[in-house]
Amino acid sequence: MKFKNTYDSLPARFFAEVTPEKFSNPTLLRFNENLASDLGLNPGEQSTTKLAEIFSGQRLLEGSHPIAMAYAAHQFGNFVPQLGDGRALLLGEIIDPKGKRFDIQLKGAGRTVFSRNGDGKSALGPVIREYIVSEAMHHLGVPTTRALAAVSTGDSIVREGPLPGGVFTRIAASHIRIGTFQYFAARGDIDGLKILLDYSIDRHYPEIKTEIQNSSNDSTSPILFLKKVIQNQVSLVSQWMSLGFIHGVMNTDNMSISGETIDYGPCAFMDGFNYGQVYSYIDSQGRYSYMNQRHIVQWNLTRLAECLIPLVDSDDQKARELLNHELSYISDLFTKHWVQRMAAKLGLVSDDSSIIEDEKLIKMWLDYLEKEKLDFTLSFRKLSDLLDENNGSSLFESTHPFEDFEKGWKKRLKNEVFDVETIKQNMNRVNPVYIPRNHQVERAIQGALVEDLSVFNELNKVLENPYLKQPELDSYRIAPLPEEEIAATYCGT
Ligand code: AMP
Ligand code: MG
Repeated sequence: MKFKNTYDSLPARFFAEVTPEKFSNPTLLRFNENLASDLGLNPGEQSTTKLAEIFSGQRLLEGSHPIAMAYAAHQFGNFVPQLGDGRALLLGEIIDPKGKRFDIQLKGAGRTVFSRNGDGKSALGPVIREYIVSEAMHHLGVPTTRALAAVSTGDSIVREGPLPGGVFTRIAASHIRIGTFQYFAARGDIDGLKILLDYSIDRHYPEIKTEIQNSSNDSTSPILFLKKVIQNQVSLVSQWMSLGFIHGVMNTDNMSISGETIDYGPCAFMDGFNYGQVYSYIDSQGRYSYMNQRHIVQWNLTRLAECLIPLVDSDDQKARELLNHELSYISDLFTKHWVQRMAAKLGLVSDDSSIIEDEKLIKMWLDYLEKEKLDFTLSFRKLSDLLDENNGSSLFESTHPFEDFEKGWKKRLKNEVFDVETIKQNMNRVNPVYIPRNHQVERAIQGALVEDLSVFNELNKVLENPYLKQPELDSYRIAPLPEEEIAATYCGT
């Protein structure tokens, strides 16, 4: 691993140095060989013992300079001016064979100056969960941080009782969050903000640099940056929702400015459809419920825009007007992304001329799923089978809401240019067969706790090809029985 670090060259107030904790018996549970090779890492003949030492922070490779990043956040709507990596450290940055820069981060390797009362450690459960769900997200085609390794530490950590400890290795385009901007904005540190903005543009949005250089206006850089983050985060959240994903903790420290999914805590893919579904046990008000995610992305982006005010114009009013102008598009942009993705799941190519009609059709379908408590993923996948003449509508119970939807849907399908076979194929490309179902993730965790990695490994395997039927692992397709349903997930902090 050749580290080419840049974040640690930023001013000292951006981060703090960290010394990883010592663990008694780090053991490698899983190493992502495919990802390692994509990144140009060559573990080659390294023993699993050595990999376990590297990916738990016991053995620091040359050029590694562990730091914890500073950030703030709105957590459930309340502002916390100093948060930072309390149980994570950046080992360093690497550049892959395509020239793309990535962070390598360890989660759960011990205390940092930002740990407050926490121990800086992670239980094994959240390590297993983030490994499975982030890799599934990637294979489903959604931008996300990736899982490189999962290690058990051999030590217990103290939570409700003693729990086995783990360390998770995460790969990210960067770990800059909306909360990183809030950290400097809250301190009135305009120099810090400017440095962070320039760094973020360099790293994530170099394509806007020419326009910035050719402009004599100070506002160009923060405005173009905001535009980019809006596009990426809106696109991301609409993708989550099209797959029935609920992030669970969309606090501003958990929203990456690169537009990747980050910080998998009490997240879940929904089984039975419910607009208001919440899994996170801490989200008692439903702030981060399935459907509310579209409003929260807008709320979070508004917090980012507020941070940029001093960089846009010295005249506060003028700066606000310019930023508001960008924010005013979010709602319509979201609707457009949402309708396009959901329509594609129905086999329809939606555009401006059909968006209103398509949105109504999507709502009819979702209302039906919710009313009948039908499985989100399986119902979409089954829908393409309805296009076979001989299947008829016997696949779904013929209630009035279903028949109304079916009539509208089939009528709308007549406007499509593709033939039925192509439409079916297109639907099957966006409607997965397999998702990391919560009850299976829980089984993988329970297995790992007693050193049985079979479910963990199988789940990872089946989720490498989520759109493809895999008869030998088909049990992972099935929705949970009522008694198997997991009502709440925990972030495991
Ligand atoms: P999260 O809920 O994972 O987004 O974390 C919110 C904040 O709490 C971040 O600043 C974390 O670094 C911090 N945190 C979470 N768990 C721990 C822990 N076990 N020890 C120290 N800090 C933690
Ligand atoms: Mg976080």
